[in-house]
Amino acid sequence: MKEKMLAAVFEGEGRLNLKKVPLPRIKRGDEVLLEVEAASICGTDVHILEVPPGHPATPGVVLSHEYTGKVLEIGKEVTQFKINDRVIIDPNITCGSCPYCQRAMPNMCENVTTLGIFIDGGFAKYNVAPAKALHRISSQVSAELAVFAEPLSCVVNGTRKLKVQPGESVVVLGAGPIGLLFTRLFKVSGASEIIVSEVSPYRKEFARRSGATRLVDPGREDLCGIVKDKTRIGADVVVDAVGDLFQDALKLTRRGGKILLFGQNEKAKAQISQNIITRCELDIMGTYIARFTFPPAIQIIESGLLNLQELVTHRFPLEEIHKGIQVMKKGEAIKVVITP
Ligand SMILES: [Zn+2]
Ligand SMILES: [Zn+2]
Repeated sequence: MKEKMLAAVFEGEGRLNLKKVPLPRIKRGDEVLLEVEAASICGTDVHILEVPPGHPATPGVVLSHEYTGKVLEIGKEVTQFKINDRVIIDPNITCGSCPYCQRAMPNMCENVTTLGIFIDGGFAKYNVAPAKALHRISSQVSAELAVFAEPLSCVVNGTRKLKVQPGESVVVLGAGPIGLLFTRLFKVSGASEIIVSEVSPYRKEFARRSGATRLVDPGREDLCGIVKDKTRIGADVVVDAVGDLFQDALKLTRRGGKILLFGQNEKAKAQISQNIITRCELDIMGTYIARFTFPPAIQIIESGLLNLQELVTHRFPLEEIHKGIQVMKKGEAIKVVITP
């Protein structure tokens, strides 16, 4: 192995620089050295690079929390993996002993850190991760599909709360990568009406191919009227995959229906009439990252259930990562895969 490798390093204030960095090495017995096969650009990476930043990150770290690779070397204490195992990475490293980890809510861990955001991640040829963050995935699955494990594990955490039943009606607000994964999962769950609200014609086309039964441009069409028309009483389930559409979601849900808030936007301040929730017995649920949902996400990927290949729209070598960030910013991409 050479002594240095190319990596995309976050250097603060909107700067992502391609530079040579020292090869990572195993420092502790529970760590694994990975050869990264593919990584994808997440909306969070784009938020990290905004000025001012829309998401925190530690300057000096190699970005990318959605990546997959092969085990190259294992620490002395690692027994569950062997050399050449193909793995995906749960980037959120939790402590296992805080009050939330003890309550089986590791996604609320008080001492969490994240590979690719606060410590080095996957936009590089090699990466070191703790063995407990890894999950085996079949080498039959291509690397560019394996990178869906992270976003899909977050979406499955949401769909498990909703338990959509065959015949139910759903509304998905926003058809970015997350909204499209929700749409595809609702389709295979048997939802009969899947109304997707999205402004971008580019993304709308992907929503149509993902199983949407009605596409709505909320800027030009009356979303509320269309939902009422299709469902008579409002949708059984509404998902906000954008992060500031709670007010809209309340108008679209039937009495006794469920609202899932997935998208994150710290600036969103919904003005709501609280009594609607009381009077209509609405179930309002938040959902945040993954909670023991990597295994089902991997099963979904390995089974080919969702045809995820259709969502890979761009591929770039690491040297051209800035092109990938640009297409993501323009909203003219679904999944952008980077290969080191
Ligand atoms: Zn992400
Ligand atoms: Zn914890």
